[in-house]
Amino acid sequence: MDPEFLPDHEGLAHALALLGKDFAATQLHDLPTALPEEGLGSRAVLDVLGPRILGRAARLGEPTAFAHMDPPTPWVTWAATLWNASLNQNLLHPATAPVAREIEARVIGWLAPYFGMEGGHMTPGSTVANLTALWAARECAGVDEVVASQSAHVSIAKAAHILGLRYRAIPVQRNGAMDADSLTGDLSRAAVVLTAGTTSTGAIDPLEWAGRAAWTHVDAAWAGPLRLSPKYADRLAGIERADSVAVSTHKWFFQPKESALVLFRDTARAHAAISFGGAYLAVPNVGVLGSHGATAVPLLAMLMAWGREGLVTRIERCMSLAEEFAGYVSSDARFELLAAAASGVVVWRPTKPDRFEQVLLGLPPSAVSVTTLEGVRWLRNVAANPNADVRKMTEAISALV
Ligand SMILES: *Cc1c(COP(=O)(O)O)cnc(C)c1O
Repeated sequence: MDPEFLPDHEGLAHALALLGKDFAATQLHDLPTALPEEGLGSRAVLDVLGPRILGRAARLGEPTAFAHMDPPTPWVTWAATLWNASLNQNLLHPATAPVAREIEARVIGWLAPYFGMEGGHMTPGSTVANLTALWAARECAGVDEVVASQSAHVSIAKAAHILGLRYRAIPVQRNGAMDADSLTGDLSRAAVVLTAGTTSTGAIDPLEWAGRAAWTHVDAAWAGPLRLSPKYADRLAGIERADSVAVSTHKWFFQPKESALVLFRDTARAHAAISFGGAYLAVPNVGVLGSHGATAVPLLAMLMAWGREGLVTRIERCMSLAEEFAGYVSSDARFELLAAAASGVVVWRPTKPDRFEQVLLGLPPSAVSVTTLEGVRWLRNVAANPNADVRKMTEAISALV
C-alpha cells in the first residue's frame, strides 16, 4: 500500500498545529513558476505552504471581520471536510457514495420545510442553484422570460443568458427592494425571481408576490437561514408559495465552500425535468453538476452539533450586531444610513464625502466593503461573523472621521 494514501497522523497533527500559528503575511513569488519535476514530500510541503497560505489569508472569525457574506466556519465542519476529502465520495454514483447520498437527502428533508419546499439537492453555490431553478422553470412552466429586480444578483441574468431566456429588470426602491408596483405586464410565461437579502443592501423583495407568475423563484442565498429563527422567519413570509428557492449554505449556515441548496415545491417534477441518463450511470444525473462531493456531511455535522437552536442563536447574534451598528451610524450626524438593515447588511457613508477614503483605507482589511448604488459609493458591512466586535469597529471608525 502506497503510504501517501494512508493517514500520516504526525503530518496531519502538524498541519493542524500550523493552522493555529500566527504567521506574518508572506508573498507567493517564491513558489515554483513551473510545475516542479521532483516533489518535496508531503510533510515538507506543509512547512513551505503553511506560512504562505495561512499567513496572508483573511481570518473571517476575527473581531473586525464585518465586510462580506463569507462566515467563519465551525471546527466540526473542518473535521467532516477532512473525512470528505479522504473518502472522496461522488454522489453521481450510488455505489461509491451510499452514505453521502442518504445524508444529503436527510439534510434536505430537515431544511426544505422551513421554506415550504418539498425537497431538492445541493449545489456548489447559489449561482448554480439559481441556474438550476430557472432551468426547471423553463422545462416545467415553459417560461421564456426571467423578471427580476435591478438589485438581483448577477447570477440571475447569467442564468437567463445561458438558458436563452429574455431578461427584464424591475426598478427598486431606495433600500434596494423590488418596487412591486412596477411588476406589470403579462407574467403567464415569466419566471419571477424575488430576492430575499439582496447582495448590495440585504433588502427583501415583496415575497407576497410569490405564486403570481408562471414560476416564482426566491433567491434566498443570503437571508434564507432567517426562516429557522422564530424571531425573524416572518421577514420572509410568502416564500412558501414559491416554486423554487436557493440558499447558500456557505453564507449564513456557516459552511465551508462550496455549499448551497436548490429546493423545489414539487421535487419529483422539477428533478425529472432536469435529469439525464447515461450508459455508465446507475441512476439519472439530476441537475447541472456531474461529479460532486458530499457537501451535506459537514452541514449535517454542524446541524447535529448545534441543533436548530444553536444555529439560530448565532444568526440572531449576527442580526443584533448589524442592528447595533446601524443604530450607531444612524444616531451620529457624521454618518448617513441608507436604510434599516432588513437582513444584517448595513449600508452607510460618512456625511462628508472626503472622509470616505479615509474610513475605507483606515479600517483593517475585511472590516468593510464598498457597494455602488445609482453611481454613488457606499460602505457596506455584512454581519456574517458572530464574533464581530461592533465596539471595536465604531471606535476605529470614530477615530477616522
Ligand atoms: C451570494 C449570492 C448569490 C450567489 O451565491 P454563491 O453562493 O456566491 O454562488 C446569489 N444571490 C444572492 C442574493 C447572493 O447574496
